[in-house]
Amino acid sequence: MKQDLPLAYRTIGELVSRFWIWLACVRPGCGHAQKCDPADLADRLGRDYPLTRMLASCSCTRCGGRGATLRLQPPQRPDRSDAPRQVPAVS
Ligand SMILES: [Zn+2]
Repeated sequence: MKQDLPLAYRTIGELVSRFWIWLACVRPGCGHAQKCDPADLADRLGRDYPLTRMLASCSCTRCGGRGATLRLQPPQRPDRSDAPRQVPAVS
């Protein structure tokens, strides 16, 4: 099963407080996607739950199809210390 899962992350717990996640239905023609908070998934499934298993077992709320792809979305946090800084051009 093809997945565009970043290899750096293997469990739900690794995403908590780092990302929002988008779960997108794999069925052609459906295209349903849902934004989730990894903290909610970790509460339900456990922080050590493997992402690959979670994706394989989740089902679409629109078409009922099984399987989803995962996309990570960094939270919008302007006060993050590791955020890239805007460097003004100097001429
Ligand atoms: Zn679907």
